[in-house]
Amino acid sequence: MTQEHPASAHAAHGGLLKWLGFGRDDAGPVTGRRYSDPVRHARAFLLDRICAFLLDNGLEISAQNLAAAHSAFAGFNPGLERRIFRRIESGEAITQDWLDQATASDGVVDDEAISRLTEQLEQGIDQFSRSTQNARSATTSYGQALAEHVDALAAAPDTDDVIVSLADYARAMLERSRKAEQELRAAEEEADTLRHNLARARRDAEVDFLTGLPNRRAFEAVLEEEYRAAQAAIEPLCVAFCDIDHFKVVNDTHGHDAGDRVICAVADLLAEISGEKCHVARHGGEEFVLLLRGATAGKALNILDSAREKMAARKLVNRRTKQPFGQVTFSGGLADVFAFADPRTALAAADDALYRAKEAGRNRVLLAEPADKVQAA
Ligand code: GH3
Ligand code: MG
Ligand code: MG
Repeated sequence: MTQEHPASAHAAHGGLLKWLGFGRDDAGPVTGRRYSDPVRHARAFLLDRICAFLLDNGLEISAQNLAAAHSAFAGFNPGLERRIFRRIESGEAITQDWLDQATASDGVVDDEAISRLTEQLEQGIDQFSRSTQNARSATTSYGQALAEHVDALAAAPDTDDVIVSLADYARAMLERSRKAEQELRAAEEEADTLRHNLARARRDAEVDFLTGLPNRRAFEAVLEEEYRAAQAAIEPLCVAFCDIDHFKVVNDTHGHDAGDRVICAVADLLAEISGEKCHVARHGGEEFVLLLRGATAGKALNILDSAREKMAARKLVNRRTKQPFGQVTFSGGLADVFAFADPRTALAAADDALYRAKEAGRNRVLLAEPADKVQAA
């Protein structure tokens, strides 16, 4: 079913920013409020768009939906923003199921699990230091008792009572230090297990569960690191988006599980070009994002285009039904990061180039226009 969306006409020209009301020919927020303060004006637009998005699509005004709409329209989740934009453009309905899937496939990470583990680790360390303190205070009190009795020993002619008492203290001390040692060992083991679990949870939080590739969260961290490193080393840096062509048809014809396997096949192929200087991540859904360091735009384009050709030449077969998938291709958009103001702008330019590649007939990789040309146009 297609759904008429009031935003789609705007979205088709000028992109989501314009649809959000930041375009040149906007007439103010849909409620008609106009603020002379541009910040209030922009906020009013944001609120209007969030409301329009939820109401027009018949979505619940729930905390989850509000958070999803806010993250997409306020620019915190450009992937979701793009997905919503494309969905609107394709004229398909934005249902609750679709939104849930779109937000879930963002690789939303169980941050709660990590903070739980961190808390447990902190508790483990507390326990550890308490045990150390106990052991220390036990040694101190034994030392004091020993010192007193040594003094008494030097002063008294009859030492039998002192020796008996010293032996009692020594036994008590041995017992306490044995206990303290056990506590220490247990606390150490617990801290080790927690540290291990925390490291695993952190690793899992950065890996896409379907393809085993790094997810968007991991990619964003790498992008920041590589951007700084490439800037310092004066090395070229490119970003690219790749998106499987007509993937919906694969799902519709062969089913979701087969679709998952096709996503994995493309992921495996792209993983072949990943390495120290090329990071490949699943950005969500049937979309991948790449970062190529040390390669000029021309070289990066060749690398990506060879991968595209290789994919297009494959004959994938549904191993369950033995039915061929037909040609599975992907389109790509690539941007030279340093030709743009910052990595985020370069990513947006790569996404625009991907969009152009789709419009131009798919199964191709296009290079984004440098920023100065875009501005001059
Ligand atoms: P285009 O060539 O324009 O990219 O068309 P498309 O059909 O590939 O793009 P569209 O965005 O219309 O459809 C993408 C589909 O991918 C819709 C969605 O249900 C499906 N999808 C998203 N994530 C997954 C996933 O993890 N597994 C499977 N099997 N399907 C997914
Ligand atoms: Mg696609
Ligand atoms: Mg897509």
